[in-house]
Amino acid sequence: MTRHNIYALKYAGPFTSSGAFLMWLKNWDKTVKRNYYFWVITGDHAPVVVDAGVSPELAAERALGGYVSPADMLKRMGLEAEEIRHVILTHLHWDHASGIALFPNAAVYIQEREYRFWLEDPIAKRPPFRHVSDEVSLTYLKRLKEAGNLRLLNGDAEILPGITCLLAPGHSVGLQAVAVETAEGTAILGSDCAHVFKNYTEDWPSSLITDLVAWMKSYDKLKNYASLPNLLFPGHDVALNEKYPFVAEDITKLA
Ligand SMILES: [Zn+2]
Repeated sequence: MTRHNIYALKYAGPFTSSGAFLMWLKNWDKTVKRNYYFWVITGDHAPVVVDAGVSPELAAERALGGYVSPADMLKRMGLEAEEIRHVILTHLHWDHASGIALFPNAAVYIQEREYRFWLEDPIAKRPPFRHVSDEVSLTYLKRLKEAGNLRLLNGDAEILPGITCLLAPGHSVGLQAVAVETAEGTAILGSDCAHVFKNYTEDWPSSLITDLVAWMKSYDKLKNYASLPNLLFPGHDVALNEKYPFVAEDITKLA
């Protein structure tokens, strides 16, 4: 069996907000922190990047605090973004997808229903959805599809031995998590199926909800897949950067 290592790369943050951002309708008067991450999976095959972070242009436009280009973060691991051959986009919110042009030579894996929502559904142009997306990278993905470098997935799909995309909607229409075979068992990069570990442990979503019923079912699915509860990782918890073995500045080894 192919065994992999998983790394979390913090490319922006920390950001503070009301606790209600991370725990829907709770903790209004608490102040909480979150970071922005993308992830790298290494193994017998070429490294796989999970999510693309934010583009330098959009980071400047949004004055994103603590920002380091995902390409520069990869250099800290001895990797070049141009050499990456596989990028899984968990969903098309701006903080996960807008850096995709940094990976010009990668096959890009997205759930078809996620792609079609953001590119083809007029609802995606309405204010709450526009607020969390980025037109520039959506246009880039459309061109990638025309060039044949977009891999649209319909549900669960093993893209390389021991690396499986799992459809886990709720936060977005077609969010996918990534199941990874590691020495410790099956680990799940859940991305924003949970912003923080507490979303999983308290069975309570964060504030950006597209479909709450689907979201709760996605919790069941991912918890079943993970070999151990502590191998189910959220998308924005500061603990990812603070409580795991140090690899390089703002890079930690999760499994
Ligand atoms: Zn996010």
